[in-house]
Amino acid sequence: MTVHPITIWGEPVLHRRAAEITEFDDALRTLIADMHETNDAAHGAGLAAPQIGVGLRVFVYKHPNDDGVPPRGAVVNPRLTLSKVSGAAPDPEEDEEGCLSFPGEGYPLRRAEWVKVEGFDGDGNPLEFVATGWFGRVMQHEYDHLDGKLYVDRLIDKYAKKARRAARKHGWGVPGLTWMPGVDPDPFGHDDHDHDEDHEHAAHDHASHEHAEHDRAGHGPAEHGL
Ligand SMILES: [Zn+2]
Repeated sequence: MTVHPITIWGEPVLHRRAAEITEFDDALRTLIADMHETNDAAHGAGLAAPQIGVGLRVFVYKHPNDDGVPPRGAVVNPRLTLSKVSGAAPDPEEDEEGCLSFPGEGYPLRRAEWVKVEGFDGDGNPLEFVATGWFGRVMQHEYDHLDGKLYVDRLIDKYAKKARRAARKHGWGVPGLTWMPGVDPDPFGHDDHDHDEDHEHAAHDHASHEHAEHDRAGHGPAEHGL
C-alpha cells in the first residue's frame, strides 16, 4: 500500500466529473487500499479518488456513525438521495466543513440531514444505507468530489469570498499542487495530537480539549479534512 500526495484546489482532476468504475479487479482493490492508507496518514474522515489524482467514482471514509454502518469503508459508483437541505444560514460552528484538497481552511455549509447511499463495495457487492448527521455530511462531501465539486463551490457569498481570498493567499487555483500526508505539516493540526497531555500553553490546552470533544462526538470535519 502506498500513501499518495493529495491534490489541491486548481488541479483539473478535482474539477471534472470522475468516470464510472466498470471492473472490480485487483487494480481497484489496490486503489482503495492506497486511498485508505492516504486518508489515515492525512487524519481524514474521507477521501475521494480525484484527491489522489485518479478520476474514478470511488471514495473511502473513516467515520463513526449511529446508522449501523461499518465505521470504515469504500463506496464505488455511489448514488445519493438527499433529504431537503434547509435554506437557513449555516451555523458558523456546527456546520463548519473542511477539505484535504483545500487544506487548513474551514467554512460553514448547510447539508442535508440525512442521505441514502447506494453503490458497491470494492468487490462489487451492492451497498445501501442511510447516513445521518456528520456521517451523512461526509457522504455528501465525498460524493461531490466525484462530480468535480468541492464544498467551497457551494458556500454562501460571504464565505465564498473568504475562500477565494484564502486560495489567492496560498497560491492555489493552478494545476500541479499537492501536499504529502505524513511529510508536510498536517494542515488540520494533527502533528500536535499525540502530545496533548503535556502542554505549557493554556490556550493550546483549551484547543486540544475541544479537539477531544469533537473526536468523541464523532464530528468536526474541519479538524478532519474530507
Ligand atoms: Zn474534500
